[in-house]
Amino acid sequence: MIKVVSFDLDDTLSDSNFDTLIWDIEIPKVYAKEKGLSLEEAKKIVIGEYDELWGKIKGDWRDASFWLKHFGLKTTWRDLLDMVKHEIKHFPEVKEVLRFLKEKGIKLIIVTSAEKKFLKAKVECEDIESFFDKTYSAPSDFNKDKKDKEVYEKVLEDFDIKANELLHVGDHKDTDFLLPKSLGIKAVLIDRNDKEGDSIKNLEELKKFLE
Ligand SMILES: [Mg+2]
Repeated sequence: MIKVVSFDLDDTLSDSNFDTLIWDIEIPKVYAKEKGLSLEEAKKIVIGEYDELWGKIKGDWRDASFWLKHFGLKTTWRDLLDMVKHEIKHFPEVKEVLRFLKEKGIKLIIVTSAEKKFLKAKVECEDIESFFDKTYSAPSDFNKDKKDKEVYEKVLEDFDIKANELLHVGDHKDTDFLLPKSLGIKAVLIDRNDKEGDSIKNLEELKKFLE
């Protein structure tokens, strides 16, 4: 019997357009403006540096504030957020599904590779924050660049449940599906474009995995 349902955040609850805008457009734009470069030049430098440091700086890699500081920019996370906050969007069925699960007495959590500031901004949107008993950010709570075994094990320990009492849903085949499955956790892959076999297309379909 499922006692806790765990959600990935990006492309599971919220679309990742906001993230793409922050990383690939807004930070390069700010860089271009503050350093007096063209946007194309700034993009090359900024994105080149993301690639260069991937896997080398653990949780910091997911933190926009780290990058603003790293690039020596005056713009803050708050400034960036104000520019693109309106782009945060949850998928249409999210609230109804969260309400349904909550009414069944199931505890709800988020397990994400997103950094806490991104997570906070997203759950505050449409006030979905109140549905969740706890959230886990791999970079902020575990200093990891993506979720791994240790993160899921901490969830099982915190809620004092067996692996098969946890149901996790997410869109990343390795970290949301194969990894939790290897630990005995019930995992469901969501693919809103319906390209992956053995996946669900929206969260409504989760209801059939609850027993
Ligand atoms: Mg995701």
